Amino acid sequence: MQNIALFGATGSIGTSTLDVVRRHPDQFQIEVLTAHSNWQSMLALCQEFQPAVAVMVDPQAAQQLAEGLKGRSGTEVLAGEQALTDVAELDSVDVVMAAIVGAAGLNSTLAAVRKGKRILLANKEALVVSGRLFMDAVREHGATLLPVDSEHNAIFQSLPEGVQQQLGYCDLAGNGVSHLLLTGSGGPFRTRELSSFDAITPAEACAHPNWSMGQKISVDSASMMNKGLEYIEARWLFNAAPSQIQVVIHPQSVIHSMVQYHDGSVLAQMGQPDMRTPIAHSLSYPDRIASGVEPLDFFKVGQLTFEEPDFQRYPCLKLAMDACNHGQEATTVVNAANEQAVAAFLRGQIKFTDIARVNRFCLEQADLSPLTDLAALSALDSQTRAQADGWIARGV
Ligand code: NAD
Ligand code: MG
Repeated sequence: MQNIALFGATGSIGTSTLDVVRRHPDQFQIEVLTAHSNWQSMLALCQEFQPAVAVMVDPQAAQQLAEGLKGRSGTEVLAGEQALTDVAELDSVDVVMAAIVGAAGLNSTLAAVRKGKRILLANKEALVVSGRLFMDAVREHGATLLPVDSEHNAIFQSLPEGVQQQLGYCDLAGNGVSHLLLTGSGGPFRTRELSSFDAITPAEACAHPNWSMGQKISVDSASMMNKGLEYIEARWLFNAAPSQIQVVIHPQSVIHSMVQYHDGSVLAQMGQPDMRTPIAHSLSYPDRIASGVEPLDFFKVGQLTFEEPDFQRYPCLKLAMDACNHGQEATTVVNAANEQAVAAFLRGQIKFTDIARVNRFCLEQADLSPLTDLAALSALDSQTRAQADGWIARGV
């Protein structure tokens, strides 16, 4: 029996994780659930899964949850950001599913890393903002890191076992790998007239053709910033040089990513676009468990097609790739700017095309001299958010 702490329990990944866990009560037990402020959903989850602890970051939501649970459950309710790191460190927790959205998930994920836990990493922004420091901590504390992001999970599955055991420090070329082929659907605007991009609405940006996801990652998929963040994530997880990662547009989302070897072989992981597959894989690795996902029917799929990304259509992808080549200071800046810009776009404050403008502005303004500790990176993150907010308020 593995005891799980699920961070971001009320979100899209949280919901899919609980769907898999529900199918295997003999193998997994929910020890901790966390969420930001949706106490109504959390109340239902606590009643069903009876965790030892539930954390609501928002104190008022925590109070309402505690009142709702009174007399009905033995779950202890905690409030605030510090509680997130506290529960990540509990001895009773074996496995942490890191599924908070944004850099807000970094501290709790790192706390679990430092306790040497098994970390199932969905929260890509945590790795984007702390890169080398995060991977160093994984190695130093003997934590086990398993990628949940579908592309990285696909690459992981397509790599030799020896490489799987050495995430962050593997020698791709030494193991016969020439390229990681990172696939992405191209999002909802792959064929839309470029001249109409200024008119894109949040509802259009959130309507992904293949995947159902949270709002932030949906907007990132539309701008392909998501693929840019994933490029950075791949760089750190697989110790890949920029020349070893290629982004490939694959509109059907059947191939979730591939590994190309020096002998000409290409290994791919395929399946339905359903996050329960990589979640089940990371929960049970190295075994396999049922996930509830329909088997892939190739006769229904019919065609698989591929395209090269067009950076005019997807300027955010280029900004993130360039930031990755620059280093973890630039990736912290582009991530922080993007989080602020996407939130402002979803509030209707800026245009879709302004997201790339905010990101470029912040990268140009930033002092990108090397930083070697998390406190300095966190200060750079805050500074960047203030600069992005300034752009958003001024509109330039
Ligand atoms: P979501 O918006 O659906 O859910 C986010 C969860 O995080 C919620 O439970 C929310 O309560 C919590 N949360 C939000 N802000 C918080 C804060 N400041 N502090 C603490 N908790 C907070 O997001 P999602 O789509 O489930 O994505 C979660 C993470 O997984 C993201 O990093 C995303 O990039 C990654 N991911 C998601 C998918 C997907 O299919 N949804 C696929 C791959 C990777
Ligand atoms: Mg992904």
